Amino acid sequence: MNTLIAGNWKTNLLADSAQALAQAVRDHCNQTNVCVIPPALYAGKVAELLATSDVALGLQDISDQGMGATTGDICAQQAVDVGAKYVLVGHSERRVRQFETSDLVARKALAAASAGLVPIVCVGESLDDREAGRHEQVVGEQLAPVIQALGTVMDCVVAYEPVWAIGTGKTASAEQAQAMHAVIRRMLVDAGKGQTKILYGGSVNAANAAELAACPDVNGALVGGAALTIESFAVIVKAF
Ligand code: 13P
Repeated sequence: MNTLIAGNWKTNLLADSAQALAQAVRDHCNQTNVCVIPPALYAGKVAELLATSDVALGLQDISDQGMGATTGDICAQQAVDVGAKYVLVGHSERRVRQFETSDLVARKALAAASAGLVPIVCVGESLDDREAGRHEQVVGEQLAPVIQALGTVMDCVVAYEPVWAIGTGKTASAEQAQAMHAVIRRMLVDAGKGQTKILYGGSVNAANAAELAACPDVNGALVGGAALTIESFAVIVKAF
């Protein structure tokens, strides 16, 4: 299966540093399985820099609504217009901070896919959920509405990001990642979407990428902090 390595820059960088990083990714990781996801304000400039490269552009969020009176949102048509191929939906930072529900995330995924974008659907359990042994149930409940909304026809990518591993330097072990990815794979196969890529995210770095990449159901990575420097991001890209 093909892989995808996506760098989620979150709310980091300013115009100059975002452009410099986009140029570095273009120069050092010019592959069709690489995607950068800058802050939306800089997406247009990054798109220009990537236009002659194989590196894809993604956005960090999308409205579930079309064009219209939704102040502050970005709609799917605008994401397409700026040159995006991918869009994150349901990142845990938005589920927690913006109270996004799994039903809203499913509507966002549907809006994105209907416009021709590939939604990268983020799922993942909290530390409490894992310690209580309900991590598989929680992830299953997050994913089910998305699978139902997209049906068999519309493509997506799934990113498993355990909340306790994000920005903490505490990665899931390869065994933990593979175990959850296998659960997600079963759900996708049952829904006729077995070919869907499943990325792992949560403190992926240059040192642990190869071990995660060796897991049979890990088809790539969604990288946060380590995507902000070309040195570490390029090593991660090579590992996959
Ligand atoms: P870190 O790689 O910084 O843990 O972030 C992961 C993430 O949230 C990517 O979307």
